[in-house]
Amino acid sequence: MPTLECRKLLQTFGMEWPEASQEEISMRRTLIAGNWKMNGSKAEARSLVEDLMRRQREVGSERPDCDLLICPPFVFLELVGRLIEGSEIALGAQDCHPAEAGAHTGDISAGMLADIGCSYVIVGHSERRQDHGEGDALVQAKAAAALAAGLTPIVCVGETREERDAGHTLDVIERQVRDSLPANCGSRVVVAYEPVWAIGSGLSATPADVAEVHAAIRGVLRDLSGKEAADATRILYGGSVKPGNAAELLALEEVDGALVGGASLKAEDFWAIASASPRRTQA
Ligand code: PEP
Repeated sequence: MPTLECRKLLQTFGMEWPEASQEEISMRRTLIAGNWKMNGSKAEARSLVEDLMRRQREVGSERPDCDLLICPPFVFLELVGRLIEGSEIALGAQDCHPAEAGAHTGDISAGMLADIGCSYVIVGHSERRQDHGEGDALVQAKAAAALAAGLTPIVCVGETREERDAGHTLDVIERQVRDSLPANCGSRVVVAYEPVWAIGSGLSATPADVAEVHAAIRGVLRDLSGKEAADATRILYGGSVKPGNAAELLALEEVDGALVGGASLKAEDFWAIASASPRRTQA
């Protein structure tokens, strides 16, 4: 039975769904990931990364208590990888092909990304789902390829405006999570909840809506992978995260970080978002 139905059924019997303990939540280190999308030049990539590194150096041990990740376009991965070498910033890509190698003109495999120094890859971003017609089965195959190459896939899910207005948000999210995550992935994936209508629009989801969807995702993860793995899996929120709303969103119990698009292109804003991370984890 789908988890959301189980949750509703338990509630009809006056029983509560088991929530994660504070100790389990503190296992999830906040992740602030910047998705640069198709933006920037070599010079801009360099100056953005150098600015972030300078900010890190200046604050010394007072740096934000979170993992930082940047996902530049493929062509800047090597440059950015060199610039962040020795720092605590991780490198990620924005997509990968599900196959290991072969006749796939213009594509990049997960193994190539690992070889060049990536540790994460975003898969199933709504812009890829929309622009390239990618469905859950392909996203699942990409995530599986990422895991096989030793990368952590950030699997994106999110409802459209029409789906939200029709009251289908939780059904859409549950289906996407079930169908996009590889079997037996345990806690080796990161899930990013990104309402499609909130991406790049300046309209963030309300904290109440984010809390509801993240709790539902956690419930589906428990059903798929068991409580232990689910409670250790990071669920990020993405969709117009900015310095002005980051603290409120990141403070939500089930929000384990942010996937940041537009605001990750300005070092000052990305740094301010990272600095809004709640200190709830041990390094
Ligand atoms: C994104 O691209 O994943 C995203 C959340 O974009 P923005 O922050 O610009 O809404």
